[in-house]
Amino acid sequence: MAVQRLVDTGTGLLGTSHRQAPVRNLVGRIREGLAELFQIPDGYEVVLGNGGATCFWDVAAFSLIARRSQHLVFGEFSSKFAQEVTKASHLGSPEVIETAPGTHPDPRPSPDVDCYCMTHNETSTGVMMPIERLGTKDQLVLVDATSAAGGIEVDISAADAYYFSPQKAFASEGGLWVAILSPAAQERAKTLCSSERWVPGFFDLAAALDNSRLDQTVNTPSVATLFLLAEQVHWMLDHGGLSWAAGRSRRSAEQVYAWAEAASFASPFVSRPEDRSPVVATVDLDPDVSAAEVSRVLRRNGIVDTDSYRKLGRNQLRLGLFPAVDPEDVRQLTAAITWVVDHLRHDDAN
Ligand SMILES: *Cc1c(COP(=O)(O)O)cnc(C)c1O
Repeated sequence: MAVQRLVDTGTGLLGTSHRQAPVRNLVGRIREGLAELFQIPDGYEVVLGNGGATCFWDVAAFSLIARRSQHLVFGEFSSKFAQEVTKASHLGSPEVIETAPGTHPDPRPSPDVDCYCMTHNETSTGVMMPIERLGTKDQLVLVDATSAAGGIEVDISAADAYYFSPQKAFASEGGLWVAILSPAAQERAKTLCSSERWVPGFFDLAAALDNSRLDQTVNTPSVATLFLLAEQVHWMLDHGGLSWAAGRSRRSAEQVYAWAEAASFASPFVSRPEDRSPVVATVDLDPDVSAAEVSRVLRRNGIVDTDSYRKLGRNQLRLGLFPAVDPEDVRQLTAAITWVVDHLRHDDAN
């Protein structure tokens, strides 16, 4: 639907300079829409830049972490950010609290850090964690919300930077990062970016903030990505906002986990029900059923990307339950998986 509306814009939008009204209106529509969707408190700002969440880790390393950060590591994405910061020669070695995949660590107040780095939803393992503020006023809470944002409810005032790429719960394309910044995070960025520290232009959050206030980005964005993001944000708003969007994912997730618990050949990977993600469900299969084979059969039949996260190395299916996915389709998917498994087992028996 959103893709058709993009096609309908014809030649009036794609190819337009990002300093001109059509693209600036689009950025404005995204900033206003996200402000409403997340009910951002006074003084918070929606900031956009190119490069996706992976790029924002570097933005944070230069523009938000002053000396030392704490990282909760519980999967591939949270671990990548911690590794990146570990390599940064201008920062102290980070405090890392790690737990096994399928669980999440809790943050610990620490006088030695100036940022707490969390991941709202660890997309590689299907674990979500609660976002709550901790620490003192001059310690920032940075939340990687890629895959969670738009699909899980959140109190934005608990975070100083709630950042994400739009290709997951927002059903857009990649290549963009969005960050919702508190006044304290804006202040930190301005201080660090005008200090002695060398901040590469691409990671200069103060510059991104200045551009966003003018409904622009520092360099040329993908207009299609912006368009699809704006459509998705307003689709959510038109139906009742974040609680509605999150409710759709929750309904899908309830079906998947109930199905996995009932199925003889499957079980939810994440053992604590409160840690189970409503947007990315991970389901372990019994050793006598090959998850890779099930995924291959599904893919041949047009159901794509049910594979587990490679590096996790488990006999597992991983299902995206983002708000754009109709919960009825998810019900059919679980029925399809049961059918495929029954037939694979039957073939094996013969
Ligand atoms: C997908 C993902 C990323 C990486 O996003 P890119 O847009 O590829 O940079 C980072 N963190 C989490 C939690 C993700 O799910």
